[in-house]
Amino acid sequence: MHIDGTCHCGAIGFSAEIDPARVMVCHCSDCQILSGAPFRAVVAAPIETLVVRGEPQRYVKVAASGNRRAQVFCPVCATPLFATAPENATSVVIRLGCVTQRAELVPSAQIWQHSALPWLSELHRVPGSPEQQAFLPAAPRAADPLPPGPRPDA
Ligand SMILES: [Zn+2]
Ligand SMILES: [Zn+2]
Repeated sequence: MHIDGTCHCGAIGFSAEIDPARVMVCHCSDCQILSGAPFRAVVAAPIETLVVRGEPQRYVKVAASGNRRAQVFCPVCATPLFATAPENATSVVIRLGCVTQRAELVPSAQIWQHSALPWLSELHRVPGSPEQQAFLPAAPRAADPLPPGPRPDA
């Protein structure tokens, strides 16, 4: 499947050929920190299918195992784009968040589940809003102990 994407500011663009059956979620703590999110969703592509527009920057992460991975990101807006081996890369692991077709790419595996955030499995129970409003103003309660008039926090 052909995919493409851009960083948030548009300075970097890319396209690649992926297998949509190889989308996965990683719950490792490096992915949590580097993505700024509770988990990271990714899809791998052969490096020869990757076409990049612009000049991305890289940060080489060294894992506890000594494994080194180049984390490639936009130097202007800092969007994480993909990761590769720092030298002689044969594949690239693309961050799903910046892929145009991301809504069509459903994960088929999750890894590093021992560090998954404990509330993720209950996320479907959390009330949702179609747009930004998260916390609705509390409805006035019949047994409100404060008298009418300006509130202390007004
Ligand atoms: Zn950018
Ligand atoms: Zn990870």
